[in-house]
Amino acid sequence: MSSSYARRIPSPTHRAIVLCYHAVSDDWPSPLAVGVRQLEHQIQALRRRRYRFLTFGELVAQVSSGGPARKIAAITFDDGYESTWTRAQRVLERLGARATVFVPTHFIDSGKPLRWPGIEEWSGTPHEHELRPLTLEQLRALSTAGWEVGSHTVSHPRLPTLADDRLADELARSKAWIEEQLDRPCETLAYPYGAYDERVIAAAEAAGYRAAGVLTGRLPAPRPLAWPRIGVFRVDRGVRFLLKSHPWSVWARSTGAWALLRPEKSS
Ligand SMILES: [Zn+2]
Repeated sequence: MSSSYARRIPSPTHRAIVLCYHAVSDDWPSPLAVGVRQLEHQIQALRRRRYRFLTFGELVAQVSSGGPARKIAAITFDDGYESTWTRAQRVLERLGARATVFVPTHFIDSGKPLRWPGIEEWSGTPHEHELRPLTLEQLRALSTAGWEVGSHTVSHPRLPTLADDRLADELARSKAWIEEQLDRPCETLAYPYGAYDERVIAAAEAAGYRAAGVLTGRLPAPRPLAWPRIGVFRVDRGVRFLLKSHPWSVWARSTGAWALLRPEKSS
C-alpha cells in the first residue's frame, strides 16, 4: 500500500505520545478503569514534563507533516463510558487539557449499556452502572468543550474477523452518525480491541479516515492509520506510569525489547 495515510512515517518521533484510557472510576475494580486521582496525577506529570496536549487527530497531522517542535501528547478515551464526561472531562478541564473520545455509535444512539466480550461480565453486578454510555447531550458537550470525537465503529466488533461489506459498514456508518449528530467532520478512529490488519487499514482509508489508533504491547512504527497508543490501566500507578510513558520505554517497546510492562488488556 502506498497511499498517503497508510504509509509509514520514516522516523518515529518519541516527542509525541498518545495515551489510551477507557473508564474513570474509583470503585470499579476493572483493569480498564483508572481512579480520578490517578488520572489527575498522570496528566499533571506530563505537564511537568512539558508536554502540550493536542487531540489525537491534531497530533497525527503534526507528526506526519514533519514532526513537532516540542513535546506533544494526546489523551484518548475508548468506548464512550459515561465516566468520560462525569469524571475525566472534569479533571482535564481543571488542568486545561482537551482529549479525544472514540465511541461505538450504536450504544450512544440507543442508550443501551456497553456490552461486548471483555466487559459484559460486569452486567448484573453492583458495577453495571459503569457500563452506561455517554448520552448524545454529553457527547455534544464534550465536542463543544473542544474534545475530538472519533469513531470506535458502530458495534465494537473485532474488525479483522468481518467480511468486507460488514467492515465497510461499521466504518462508514459510525463516521456518518457522528458527523450528522455533531455537525463536524469525523476523521479519526480507534480499532476495537486494538485489532487491525492491512485489509482493515485499507477499509479505514476508503471510508475517509485520516488517523486511526491501535493498542498493542509492542508499539508499531507510526503510520497515520495504525498509530501506536500507550494503554494506561488501573495497575499503571506512580512510577509504573512514569516509566511506561517515558520516551526511552516508548522507544524500547517499538523495538520489541520491552516486556516488563506486559501483559496489557484492551477493550
Ligand atoms: Zn473498545
